[in-house]
Amino acid sequence: MANTAITVARGDGIGPEIMDATLHILKAAGARIDIEEIQIGEKVYLAGHSTGVEPTAWDSIKRTRVFLKAPITTPQGGGFKSLNVTTRKMFGLYANVRPCVAYHPYVETKHPGMDVVIVRENEEDLYAGIEHRQTDQVMQCLKLISRPGCERIVRYAFEYAKRNNRKKVTCFTKDNIMKLTDGLFHKVFDEIAAEYPSIQNEHWIVDIGAAKLADTPEAFDVVVMPNLYGDILSDVAAQIAGSVGLAGSANIGEKYAMFEAIHGSAPRRAGQNLANPSGLLHGAILMLVHINQPDIAERVHNAWLKTIEDGVHTYDIYSEGVSKEKVGTKEFSQAVAARLGQKPEKLKTVTYSSAPAQDASSATRARVPAKKDLVGVDVFLDWTGGTADDLGDKIEGCSTDALKLNNIAARGVKVYPGGFPDTLTGDNWRCRFLSEGIATHQQVIELLGKIAGAGFDFIKTEHLYNFDSQPGFTA
Ligand code: NAD
Repeated sequence: MANTAITVARGDGIGPEIMDATLHILKAAGARIDIEEIQIGEKVYLAGHSTGVEPTAWDSIKRTRVFLKAPITTPQGGGFKSLNVTTRKMFGLYANVRPCVAYHPYVETKHPGMDVVIVRENEEDLYAGIEHRQTDQVMQCLKLISRPGCERIVRYAFEYAKRNNRKKVTCFTKDNIMKLTDGLFHKVFDEIAAEYPSIQNEHWIVDIGAAKLADTPEAFDVVVMPNLYGDILSDVAAQIAGSVGLAGSANIGEKYAMFEAIHGSAPRRAGQNLANPSGLLHGAILMLVHINQPDIAERVHNAWLKTIEDGVHTYDIYSEGVSKEKVGTKEFSQAVAARLGQKPEKLKTVTYSSAPAQDASSATRARVPAKKDLVGVDVFLDWTGGTADDLGDKIEGCSTDALKLNNIAARGVKVYPGGFPDTLTGDNWRCRFLSEGIATHQQVIELLGKIAGAGFDFIKTEHLYNFDSQPGFTA
């Protein structure tokens, strides 16, 4: 079988040591890989490349489409872009997969039975980076959730569950509050779950779901969620498994994928042969499955489990009475390599199937777009001229024959007509104008002309549409 080319970056701090250790194990296990090494991280940032990646290095990733990355140090100070965010966006790495497993009794944990995989949507939600200062007092960050984005991440979670013999997929959202955005994520989850009748599915509101995950992680199997919740809860899950230094993660796109440890470059531990290479090794195991070498992934993973079970531990997980031998980075990798071909006796043996990676491009479903009708406009004002009733009195006069003032809200709370005097208002007001039938852009322009003519500073407009006669906006 031909070797697979992969791009490797050794990173900063403990990065080079844990990468050497990881590659030593992969080579000993017979991984069929050809390595292309690239430079990333601190030195590259300081040489003036704001992304932390040498321009020619991107070509290697474009060619191999598989990137095994050691942690890097982001220099202090402004002007440096997050390498991870750049890589994710540039290569469309929409799924972040993070298995969080307890290795009781060999690694201390409060949750001995924990074995959870967090699948986080990686591109959408509040992470689009679309923020505005609207007025003196108010900042805005847009939360964008798309149907194709939901479909591919949810399908990825179910396909992952199927390939890895997982029994249940749980979805976390906050759709009781964010009815349109998180509501869409939940709806798509229900639709796609129906295509996988052999896998259980459930939905939790993220707050109580997170509490349950932190308290009883044994109750969960695969958990899929939008970007922000996933960002937070994947760290919580890794931490409570007892093993931040042990977890790896995969960032998967339709064409490209990146694999790494979840921890950082631990600069204080660098160059001392101390660091635990297990997180990066777990990233590499996910990579081996991705490049369809499940046989090697299995060999490496089981040898690693046996090493942990034999009590051969680096300083970070060493515990008197449990551990047998405290070793350095290099010796740990030699211990794993020496156990290749062995399986754990107490910890659960791992098996990986050779099923082909799921093609996420097939994930988006054909559907007829909804019929879209313009029925009004929200006009946001920067205004400090008085109370909500004062504003109401003035702006009523801007209503046109086609578009009439319906209500005014401040920070999402209706304040006119009939507002509650104690509601906090400021300089940011949303004036909703509705039409009786279908409105036109020309009518919106006329309305805005009148509002500007009356001396108001309108800072943004948001069109109100019905989709198949259902309002595409909150009441
Ligand atoms: P860190 O993860 O590097 O370290 C946190 C703690 O965990 C430290 O006490 C460290 O000694 C310990 N630790 C981490 N990995 C270990 C390992 N493999 N073996 C033993 N102990 C380990 O987090 P930090 O100190 O907040 O960040 C250090 C640098 O790493 C920063 O520059 C940060 O920006 C960067 N960082 C990079 C990535 C990445 O490249 N993916 C992720 C997180 C942080």
